[in-house]
Parts: sequence; structure tokens; C-alpha cells
Amino acid sequence: ELDRQVLARGARLGTRYVLILVEDQTERLRLDEVRRDFIANISHELKTPIGAISLLADALDPAADDPERVRSFATRLEVEAERLTKITADIINLSRLQSAEAIGKPALVDMADVVKAAVEQNKVIAESHGVEVISRTVSDAVVIGDRALLVVAVHNLVNNAIAYSPDATRVGVGLAVRDGIVEVSVTDQGPGIAEEERERVFERFFRVDQARSRTTGGSGLGLSIVKHTAQNHGGEARVWSRVGQGSTFTIRLPEASADARAQIETTSLE
Ligand code: ADP
Repeated sequence: ELDRQVLARGARLGTRYVLILVEDQTERLRLDEVRRDFIANISHELKTPIGAISLLADALDPAADDPERVRSFATRLEVEAERLTKITADIINLSRLQSAEAIGKPALVDMADVVKAAVEQNKVIAESHGVEVISRTVSDAVVIGDRALLVVAVHNLVNNAIAYSPDATRVGVGLAVRDGIVEVSVTDQGPGIAEEERERVFERFFRVDQARSRTTGGSGLGLSIVKHTAQNHGGEARVWSRVGQGSTFTIRLPEASADARAQIETTSLE
């Protein structure tokens, strides 16, 4: 509009204007770089289990006479295939979260129910690590969002807490509502995270200790999924930690207001 006004005035005065459009390409170039890095990381992450599967498959035939070795190779094949499945599921989840339509039709979600589901999903791994998961929830902690995405986010926190904890320790999962904020917290007695790494753990593919993290079979995407899910729900993810003592990860989400509850309840009845 301004350009048109300037041009019109110019025309009245008999002046000729040349319009030069200058566009800042910095952001576009940065996004290109992020995308290239992401694809390079994905390829790297996929190559490891695929390479292992291919080696194990080759080793099966020569070991055919030794049932013990065949069994051991089969178990390792299964572990690598599971890792591959987890990495692909994480990549799909993360790319869904980064697209505009991440949250489908908003629904009222009871966070006590989300915490219960996430803890239940981690029951077997907790037992195998001898880690006791103690959860304390409250009723009426309701948010607006996508239940499935929220279960994945809380699951990732509980799963990490167990995976990075020494055996026979405790993991506490809490739920509270304060000043219109619903907060899920997951506390472990694990190694903790050094201050300079605390914010970086939410980055895609970032791992504090590559060697240790690899043995946990993670993809390095779990906390990035947590962060994006919280943000897509108008909230945030945080970490508090002390090296040698443990960590507490929290997801803070806005509580569904009475108005919103009434509205969503009405629309879901239609
Ligand atoms: P991963 O699949 O490697 O677990 P995440 O994105 O979930 O990826 O976590 C990123 C990194 O943050 C992990 O590799 C680990 O180094 C660190 N981390 C995550 N949770 C914890 C925790 N509860 N205690 C200590 N370190 C953790």
C-alpha cells in the first residue's frame, strides 16, 4: 500500500521510481541447514541398526549347527529391529509435531489418566531394571490437547528416568495443578546432567554420553519430542538436575479453563 502511494505521488510529480525488494535470506538458509543436518543424522542413526541386522543375518547360516549361537543371534536381531522401529516411530512423531497441523481436533485430556498410561507402558522395563516407579496424581488436572501425543511425551520422560537410573533406585512421577498450570514431574536418582548440557538435551539427536546412551537404545529424539509436544500445547518442558544426585524433568501445560471445558463438552456432544 505504501509502495503504491509513493509511486502515485511519484507519478504526479513526474518522477520515475525503481522498486528494489531486499529479502533477508538468513532464516531460510538456517532452516535449510537444520533440515540437511536432520537428514544426515537420521541416515546415521538408521545405518547403525541396519548394519547390525545385515551382519547378524549373514552370520546365521554359518552358525546353523550351533543352536545356542543361532538363539543368541536371533535375540540380537530382535533388539536391533526394535531399535529400528523406535527410531522410525520417533522420527514420524517429531515430524508430525513440527508440522502446523500437529494437534488434531482439541479434546479435554485428563492428565492423571495420561500419567497412568505412561507409567503402565514402562512397567516391564522398570521391573527389568529393578526400578520402583512411584506415581502420585491428583484428580481434575485437565488440559486441552491430544491425548496420544501427551502419553508419548510423559512416556519418554518416565522411560529416560528408568533407563538412566542405577538399578534398584526409585523414580517418582508427580502431577499437580497450581495457578492454572498443570505440571507433570518425573524425578530420578540417576547420574544427573551437567549445567552446560541441560538445555542441549532437548535438541534433536543430542546425547550427553554417546557410549552410555547408545546402550540404552535411545534415538536421541525423545526429549525433543517432549519439548515440541509441550510447546504445541501452549506449555513448556524444563529440567532441573544435580550431578551425582539425579534429575527432575517437568512438563508444564495451561489448565483448561471452565469456559473452554464447557465449549469443548458442548461441541463434542453435537
Ligand atoms: P535418548 O534416546 O538418547 O535417551 P533423549 O532425547 O531422550 O534421547 O535424551 C537425550 C540425552 O539426555 C540422553 O542421551 C541422555 O544423555 C540425557 N538424559 C535424558 N534423560 C536423562 C535422565 N533422566 N538422566 C540423565 N540423563 C538424561
